This record gives sequence, structure tokens and C-alpha cells, in this order.
Amino acid sequence: MRSVVKNLPYPIKLGLKYAYGMIPLPIRYGKVFRDTYAFLQESQWWSREKLEEYQIRQLNKLLHHAYENVPYYRRVFEERGLRPENIQDFDDLRKLPYLTKDIVRENLSDLLAQNYSKSKLRYATTGGTTGMPLGFYWEKGFTDSKEWAFVWRQWNWAGYRFGKRRVTLRGDVISKFKRGQRKLWEYDRLNNVLFLSPYDMTEENLFKYVGVINKFRPVAIQGYPSNLYILAHFLKNNNLRIDQIKCILTSSEILYAHQREIIEESLTSRIYDHYGNSERNALVVECEEGIYHIIQEYGILESIGSDGNSTSKEDDIGEIVATGFNNYAMPFVRYKTGDLAVYTKHKCACGRNYPLLKRIEGRSQEFIVTKQASLVSLGPAIFGIHDLEWTRVRQIQFVQEQKGKLIIKIVKNDNYSDQEIKEYVLKLFNIRLSRICDLFIEIVDDIPRTKRGKYRVLIQELPVEFESNESSLQV
Ligand SMILES: [Zn+2]
Repeated sequence: MRSVVKNLPYPIKLGLKYAYGMIPLPIRYGKVFRDTYAFLQESQWWSREKLEEYQIRQLNKLLHHAYENVPYYRRVFEERGLRPENIQDFDDLRKLPYLTKDIVRENLSDLLAQNYSKSKLRYATTGGTTGMPLGFYWEKGFTDSKEWAFVWRQWNWAGYRFGKRRVTLRGDVISKFKRGQRKLWEYDRLNNVLFLSPYDMTEENLFKYVGVINKFRPVAIQGYPSNLYILAHFLKNNNLRIDQIKCILTSSEILYAHQREIIEESLTSRIYDHYGNSERNALVVECEEGIYHIIQEYGILESIGSDGNSTSKEDDIGEIVATGFNNYAMPFVRYKTGDLAVYTKHKCACGRNYPLLKRIEGRSQEFIVTKQASLVSLGPAIFGIHDLEWTRVRQIQFVQEQKGKLIIKIVKNDNYSDQEIKEYVLKLFNIRLSRICDLFIEIVDDIPRTKRGKYRVLIQELPVEFESNESSLQV
């Protein structure tokens, strides 16, 4: 279809584009999407036993495929004297080794399923916000359609339906120009989405953003937490409002508690956070009760503590290790994501039986290395941000290049001198951090984002290995 469209004259293409836009989203995404979406509507109410049985069936299918068609996994099984039928439950799965980012880099072609032709592959990369970017392949059409079905189900939980007005503040670069200047926003008629540029959120432009959002009257606002955080502060400082939003959809960055609080307060709505990875093998999303659910139809998610065992006690922190069901072109089995989760055994009042997480703690790179060479999670350490007066400080970022030393970069408000801001920030953070780190303040004009427009709270230049230090999680 796409190659036919490519060769048509422009006016016809334009006509087709709009005709295509008239097609309801479920049809546009195709059969895989529709079938998965319908399945997920039902499976969300399954019992834990039924969900686990489903996972084991999917795991068997995936491992048989990997053994038959993926050279890397054939080798992994043979080296251990195993066959796929030896893996019959979650305990058996632990007989297989972790897949690390380094292994993926070194075995990229051996990880490809040989029964998939090149034309069915789509190359993708991680953002590279935590170390080197990682390249890998998806199954074209299939992996994405599956992904959208899971995304839409959560958006439905949030009360957001197909075709309703949505504003997004993610990493998108606006493609439209006016008088040689890139525009600040762009309306996508096909999907009824207003894209705002996250790269131009100056005070002056934010007044325009609020104006255009209120005129558009979205029911949902979707964005990286960092972008929405800036917008939320702007609204608060200027006593402005955005009306009628039913839900806030966040993803792609860790959402910190202090961010959630001000975003929900300023946008007068609830956040539905979504944790997933570019590699498409882990999915944890918030339901109507604001609780993180591990989505079992998406894959198998293990949480591995620093002792190498699955976490099982309340508040235990573990690294998320994921086996995804939606990419047969390059299966990832027991993939170490580098992200950390906090275990809870509670049940959710929404009635769904998925295992829960208390929160996603952030990536293992989001730790500070102290003077004593221990690791301290950034999350609690930066609770001080909560007390920051945002009339003085506009943006903040921590950079660590040496053990026990932390640089705090600040974009300040022009009404205050550098000296005033330095003293203010030092006083605030020394209360929490002076015991473990020496602090240095740098006043800067801008805090650069990553290539994908993501904003990093901590740039950790030191090698941080979560598993190497058992005491690392004692904050
Ligand atoms: Zn729930």
C-alpha cells in the first residue's frame, strides 16, 4: 500500500491522506491491533492463575521459536544441555542467563530470527540516555500494532477514547515552518493531536502555549514528566489554568514524586504513568487507582534484588529483568533493563489481578556515588527540589564526574543575582547532601536535553553498577 501511495501525484496523495484520516483508528492500526485490543479488554479481568498460565504458554511458544530460529539462543540452550521443554515454569526460566545490553551489541546478527526476512524488520534504538545507545530490531507492523493496543487500553482506563482531542509535549520536533521559522506547534488532523515543541519552552512562549491549549480544549495531555513539570510551574507562578483536562498521560522518563505532585495540582487532573522501554519487553502502567500494575500479557517481568534473587519482601528494590512476548524477529529473554522497581505484595482496589509495584525507582545510573564510595538513590536525595522556590530557579540538573562531588547546574530567574542563587541552593541541598557529597553550583543559561528531547535530572559520568554494592540501596 505504502509504495503505491508514494508514486501518486501530490493532490491525490493529499486526498488519500484525509480519506485515510476518516478511517477509525482501530482499522488504521490493522488486524493485529484490533485482535489484541479486544483480547486485552477481556484478559484484564482474568484471575492471577489464568494470567500466569497464559504467560507460560507464551513463554513456551517464544522459547521454541528462539531455539529453532535464533542462533544465539540455540547456543545458550545447547551450552547448558537444555531444550525448550525443560522450561516449564517461572523457576525454570532462571536456568537461562540474563541478556545484557553488551550481549545484544556483540551478538546482534545472531539474535535475529533466521525465518524472518529483512523486509519484515524495523531497526530501532534506545535513547542512549543511560550510556551508549543500543540498536536492535522489531517485527515491522506486528510489534508496533501490539504496542498500540496496550497503550490504548491504559488510555481507556484513564478515560481517554479514540479520536478525542489530545495535546502532546514529548520529544517531537515540529515539522512546519512559518516565514522561515520553525513553528511552536502543529496540529495533526488525522489523530486529533496538537503537538507542542518541547524545545522552545521559554517564559514568553509558554504564555502562547497556554493560549493555544485552552483554545484547543484537549481532554488529555500527554508528555514527558520534565516537560509537564516546566509547564506546571509556569501555570502556578503565573496563576494560570488549563481547563477541562480529564487525564495526564506520562511516559518515557522516570516520574518523580515531587513532579507528580505539582503537575497534578497545576493541571487539576490525575496522572496515569506508563513505564515501558524502547526494547518493547517491559510494561508497567497505572490504573484508575493510581497503582502500578505489571502487565502480564505483555511479557514476563522479574524484579531481581542485589542478592540475585527475586524480590519478595515489601519495599524491596530490584532490577527489572524482562522477557517480551511481542517481538519474534529478535526475542529478548531475561533482558536486564537497568531500571529499578520497588516491590509490594498488595492487591489493587480496581479488581485487576496483576502483580503491583510500589513505584519505579529510576535507573541504576540515577545514583550518586558518595565520599564513602557507597551509592545513594537520587530520588530521596533530591526531595529538596520540592522546597525550591521556582520564582528563583527555573531548571536544575545534577552532574557527577568524581566520587563525593556533585555539580548542581541551575537556570535562574533574571531577577536574582548569581550569588544570591548560589547561596540559596547550597543552603537547601547541603542540609541533605553535605554529609555525603561536596556541592558546587554552576549558573547556566540552558540545560541541554538529549537528542530525543529528554531531560535528565542526573548526568552520572561515573560507572555505577547496581549489583556490585549491596549497601547501595540504604539511603
Ligand atoms: Zn488497579
